[in-house]
Amino acid sequence: MDCLFCKIIAGEVPSTKVYEDDMVYAFRDIAPTAPEHVVIVPKKHIASANDITDDNINYVTAIWKAVPKIAKELGIDGGGYRVVNNCGSDGGQTVNHLHFHLMGGREFGWPAG
Ligand code: 5GP
Ligand code: ZN
Repeated sequence: MDCLFCKIIAGEVPSTKVYEDDMVYAFRDIAPTAPEHVVIVPKKHIASANDITDDNINYVTAIWKAVPKIAKELGIDGGGYRVVNNCGSDGGQTVNHLHFHLMGGREFGWPAG
């Protein structure tokens, strides 16, 4: 399958690993929009949030279990952070492998622009 994030998980495309367990891989975004910007992906190919089902929701649970661990590792747990999923073209998704952006180290406005 020609999927960039599957290749990153497999080590075929290099990345800067921040966290890994049996279900989750997290790496630094190549074009960060915050002082700390990590992409968290399931180790199973799930194309987008539209494809989350009862059969794969355990990967999403695993990602959210990893979030506070990664935030603590990055030292942004105290200040806080934002977690974002972009789904589909209107949502701004550019890589069709489900992922969550974990961003911190600066303040974010709300509502998001
Ligand atoms: P999306 O726009 O789909 O929500 O997020 C995709 C993210 O992947 C973008 O923030 C983009 O900078 C990041 N990205 C795209 N290609 C690469 C890459 O080859 N390596 C890394 N580390 N990040 C990438
Ligand atoms: Zn994939």
